[in-house]
Amino acid sequence: MPDKNSSDPALHILQSVFGYPSFRGQQAEIVNHVARGGDALVLMPTGGGKSLCYQIPSLLRDGVGVVVSPLIALMQDQVDALAEVGVRAAFLNSTQSFDEAMRTERQVRNGELDLVYVAPERLMTPRCLELLEASKIALFAIDEAHCVSQWGHDFRPEYIKLSVLHERFPAVPRIALTATADPQTCAEIAHRLQLDDARQFVSSFDRPNIRYQIVEKANGRKQLLDFIQGEHPGDAGIVYCLSRKKVEETAEFLNAHGVPALPYHAGMEMAQRTGNQARFLREESLVMVATIAFGMGIDKPDVRFVAHLDLPKSIEGYYQETGRAGRDGAPADAWMAYGLQDVVQQRRMIDESDADENFKRVQSAKLDAMLGLCETLSCRRVRLLDYFGQTSAPCGNCDICLNPPVSYDGTVQMQKLLSAIYRVDQRFGAAHVIDVLRGVDSDKVKQWRHDQLSTFGIGRDLGDTEWRAIMRQAIALGLVEVDHDAYGTLKLTEKARPVLRGEQSIQLREYRKPAKSRRQAVKPRGFVESDLSATEQALFEKLRWWRMETARRHNVPAYVIFHDATMREIAKAKPLSIDELRTISGVGEKKLETYGDEIVALIASLE
Ligand code: ADP
Ligand code: ZN
Repeated sequence: MPDKNSSDPALHILQSVFGYPSFRGQQAEIVNHVARGGDALVLMPTGGGKSLCYQIPSLLRDGVGVVVSPLIALMQDQVDALAEVGVRAAFLNSTQSFDEAMRTERQVRNGELDLVYVAPERLMTPRCLELLEASKIALFAIDEAHCVSQWGHDFRPEYIKLSVLHERFPAVPRIALTATADPQTCAEIAHRLQLDDARQFVSSFDRPNIRYQIVEKANGRKQLLDFIQGEHPGDAGIVYCLSRKKVEETAEFLNAHGVPALPYHAGMEMAQRTGNQARFLREESLVMVATIAFGMGIDKPDVRFVAHLDLPKSIEGYYQETGRAGRDGAPADAWMAYGLQDVVQQRRMIDESDADENFKRVQSAKLDAMLGLCETLSCRRVRLLDYFGQTSAPCGNCDICLNPPVSYDGTVQMQKLLSAIYRVDQRFGAAHVIDVLRGVDSDKVKQWRHDQLSTFGIGRDLGDTEWRAIMRQAIALGLVEVDHDAYGTLKLTEKARPVLRGEQSIQLREYRKPAKSRRQAVKPRGFVESDLSATEQALFEKLRWWRMETARRHNVPAYVIFHDATMREIAKAKPLSIDELRTISGVGEKKLETYGDEIVALIASLE
């Protein structure tokens, strides 16, 4: 049973305010370091528990903790969640009225707040900087710190200016936090925010409860529907698509097939966008179909799956997006369907962008790493963590570990493919090359007299999908390049030479038909409920109902009141007094005061 009267002040706050028995991972070290006035750079995966790393030092130190965050739409929920545990918090951003802003400014000046969330562009105004100079500041927390990186996909120019904080408030400790952590971005953050001397806290980036799965795309939408209906009926999830149009179409498709889904993309009206986001946060089983404009900072804990219908541009992006699944630590899925067309499309997008050559080269390298992940013959997680510079052992919880692909000596097949590309003068795309291999008399084949080539029909033994699978591997292995033109012209690289000459053999992965839905074979993973007995389950349902009503009355998302994990513990322990309820993880003093009697009464009424 946790000791909720600890003599360690940080632990005492964790227990009495937040209701958690102990710190996780490096939290304790980070909290103590910042509370003593040290600067910190914190790299922790999504769901790792970054918020407490600045919230608790803000409560321990004199003055208000200033949290810089680009996530304006989420500030209200964050402030509400803090109010629920009795922390005095407010925000300053462009969504509030003048009067509200004045009130918050007054509270900051009078030392009446523990935390204030500020949008970066607001912080940089002379008015705001003067306000802060006239107030007592506990610390600066720079959330989503990777936004300072010009190479990243979340770049925010205002973030660059945040180095001003160090110059104007040299005595105030700063803590920068991010879940994006390739070494390059990390160095850029330290440099641009003048945090070179800050202590770095790098957590393991592993998210063991997330199962990674990448399937070959046949009919993406249909595969997605099978996946959701088979493995996640009634669950909340996010589906990422590349284009706005595809977002709209996919959401419609899911709705038409009985999966409640909402669209989200930057082309929608602001009001509708924020409305859909609010619904996703508040309701329990909605699927959000979105472009990558959606999700940064979404801290909904019970997102059970993240699906990609298009290939992400980089492993950083992919890892950040999939990281939104399973923050509560319960099993979750990261599922992706990918095909050859994705590669062609991404290459074209890189080429058609207005960026300079240097930027394009970086993007190209990132895409190559992503392809490598898709085509790997070994554990996905090992590969992902390796990308972030962390070594690990095969995980047992990814598609490759669970169902190892059969590899075979594909040297001859690869030679056929490479010579077919060579014989059409490296001037055609994948569809045509495969037609030639398979001996298809298409108009184009006849027009170019490619039925006369020695390579015509040498690949009749395999079907179109098999050849596409080999083609993708050829690209991922770097033997073939997709040209930066509108046709996706295929070219051989230097690496193709030794293979063609028979000096190097090639291991290929056997093509498998996309797996059918596992609905009949395996029950939807009922992990969350399975550890409850029937009576406990009934109590859990009652608590959920109570939480829904309460959340509606307070106009906050349900998880702000209690997480599922907390309610499961309550359902198991069936506390009949306030003191018993106090021992449950996730129940702090303020919540005890607000909801304790109601919950104890609810349990007593069932006894
Ligand atoms: P991040 O910002 O790193 O993605 P959060 O700060 O939102 O993660 O924390 C993720 C979840 O873990 C939250 O629901 C939070 O309440 C919970 N959490 C954080 N620290 C602890 C802890 N020490 N014990 C129990 N739960 C924790
Ligand atoms: Zn694995």
